[in-house]
Amino acid sequence: MQLSIVIPMFNEAENAEHTLARVEDSLSSFDGQYEIIAVNDGSTDNTHEVLQKIAASNKKIKIVSYSRNIGRGMALRTGFKEAKGEIIVSIDADLSYDPKYIIDFLKTFKEEENIDLILASPYMPGGKTEGVPFFRLWISKLGNKILRLAMPNRIHTLTGIFRAYRKKVLDSLELESDGKEIHLEILSKAMALGFRVKEIPAILKSRKRGSSKFKFKRTATSHLIFSVFEKPMIIFGFIGVLTLGAGLLIGLYVAYLRFSGDLTPGRPLITFAILLILGGIQILSFGFIALQILSLRKEILRIQKENLELGNLLRKPGMQENERNIEKS
Ligand code: UDP
Ligand code: MG
Repeated sequence: MQLSIVIPMFNEAENAEHTLARVEDSLSSFDGQYEIIAVNDGSTDNTHEVLQKIAASNKKIKIVSYSRNIGRGMALRTGFKEAKGEIIVSIDADLSYDPKYIIDFLKTFKEEENIDLILASPYMPGGKTEGVPFFRLWISKLGNKILRLAMPNRIHTLTGIFRAYRKKVLDSLELESDGKEIHLEILSKAMALGFRVKEIPAILKSRKRGSSKFKFKRTATSHLIFSVFEKPMIIFGFIGVLTLGAGLLIGLYVAYLRFSGDLTPGRPLITFAILLILGGIQILSFGFIALQILSLRKEILRIQKENLELGNLLRKPGMQENERNIEKS
């Protein structure tokens, strides 16, 4: 299998058929083997029935379904586990992105062997958005700008669903997000493991049918927390340097008063300066500890990756008994 396309669906009865048809159309020039995996994330409308009807007459379409709505992260993880393709694409069910880009993803992978993960990017130069409501767009752009600071590579669109992965990337990651944060989780972990990411410009359109499941508060909080975890020095460093700097300045002022003979004994300013200096040093130390923890996390990710690889190897059918032993020892 060369290509798997994973589409999470929560209450997308209005979109399912049209979207699946459009995705298949976009692959008409693709001559490899592919599968489309529609994941029904506990829809309460008749998404599941619609999908069953389509899949009954189309072998390329597979349905995975569970009864409780958990979130797009869970839906994507479920789909990824099911995917057999060497390249795995995720796209949303409302056609916010034109599936024609899938062919571009494949072309890029072919031409650039060193690239492991491709992002469709409306926010990079050359990319565009059309008809996205003003507030939603503004929040999304601002969020991506902040996140951009937190990530090692300067990526413009970190939160988009439309992406393509080489199988080895997803096979290496132990993912746990249930919601929209999954896009960040994948990027962060994949980059920590040294996988290479490329953005290609794309147009993001507003959904035409069905309703968006975007939850502002939840998304904003989870993404902010993520930035702090990803680059703790942004917060600790900033506040620490500020506090320390203020302490030193006040200290200098006190010293000036002392030498110009103006200092009345027992002024609280001295204590204040000392408090600020000590506080600043402490906040910076938190930052350094957080950096250490981050590098430990990288190590853990690497170990998880090796574990997963080992697990896959042991599970491979038809493997020689002695090979298994070698892998275990
Ligand atoms: N989705 C899902 N489970 C959820 C919420 C959303 O599977 O709990 C799917 C949804 O059906 C869509 C994709 O995730 O295919 C993105 O959702 P949506 O279009 O509502 O979000 P937006 O594109 O506005 O961020
Ligand atoms: Mg959408």
